[in-house]
Amino acid sequence: MERIQTLLAERELDALLVTDLVNVRWLTGFPSSNAVVVVLPDRMVLLTDFRYVAGARRAVRRAEVAEGKRDLVDDAVALLPARARVGFEDQVMTVAARARWGDAAGEGRELVGLGGDVERLRAVKDPDELAAIQAAVALADDTLLAVLERGLVGKRESEVAALLQYEMRVRGAQRDSFPPIVASGDRSDSPHSTPTDAVIERDTLVLIDFGAELDGFCSDGTRTFATGDADDEMREVYELVLRAQRAGLEAVRAGVTGREADAAARTIIEAAGHGAHFGHGLGHGVGMKIHEEPRLTQRSDQVLERGHVVSVEPGVYLEGRFGVRIEDLVAVTDDGIVNLSSSSKDLIVVD
Ligand code: ZN
Ligand code: ZN
Repeated sequence: MERIQTLLAERELDALLVTDLVNVRWLTGFPSSNAVVVVLPDRMVLLTDFRYVAGARRAVRRAEVAEGKRDLVDDAVALLPARARVGFEDQVMTVAARARWGDAAGEGRELVGLGGDVERLRAVKDPDELAAIQAAVALADDTLLAVLERGLVGKRESEVAALLQYEMRVRGAQRDSFPPIVASGDRSDSPHSTPTDAVIERDTLVLIDFGAELDGFCSDGTRTFATGDADDEMREVYELVLRAQRAGLEAVRAGVTGREADAAARTIIEAAGHGAHFGHGLGHGVGMKIHEEPRLTQRSDQVLERGHVVSVEPGVYLEGRFGVRIEDLVAVTDDGIVNLSSSSKDLIVVD
């Protein structure tokens, strides 16, 4: 509440409309499919419809709760002063919704696009949020061990993905952070491969990237396994990616830009001649959404802050052959990181 009020003052706004449902949940703790938060200098009002309002009155302590009709727009506008500068989330609002809000707001109220301001606030996690993300990561790490115990060879990729989903749910996760990636053989040559019905073979690599959503917060982690004998080139690439990943982890701390963190890992992969095979950024913020601020990429001048949670996930993908990615989730501190992931990073053989 304090931080969102500071945003009002900084942007010289009289009010703020929060329409993105993830940001609504972040501000109020309340998940729903239809809600708006109106932030005013002295109060915050959660507007939702009949389907949710009783539940919101029971659960929400940080905001007043009010019932609105239909799309909530007219009820939200009624809370605004007649003449006002009103911030809105122009990065997520549709063109049609913007027209509707503009009509309802009338002449006296100016709608001011906030870009990613609310997302930038949300990216800095407080201790409770860090604990929630740590719990999601621990749940996923535990899930991975349970699934590996059942073996990989002879199972379909889609079967392993389903087992990951099942074991996550059994441990209390409400949903996946994103559909699990299980890519074996040459399908691991693509960073975001969709699990197929192909059977996982012996003596190949399997890339597994998945995450659990627990109490509104996501985890994200990748490991690459061998199913028997990995050949020399596979081992070489694995060691290279691991070295790059460690360099990335070393580089992450408050005050470093996303570009600098990315470069720490990328220079190692480039020096080994695989620069062209690392076609994505080093990492991304993770929180209530699986991909959020800040970005660790070659073009990111975002400065890391204490409380950011980012993935560190270099990869090398050799088209038509195999790929390797290793991904940890870390919390940024003033002098480095707290690594939230606990899964081993040795090249483990699972048959
Ligand atoms: Zn991932
Ligand atoms: Zn990731």
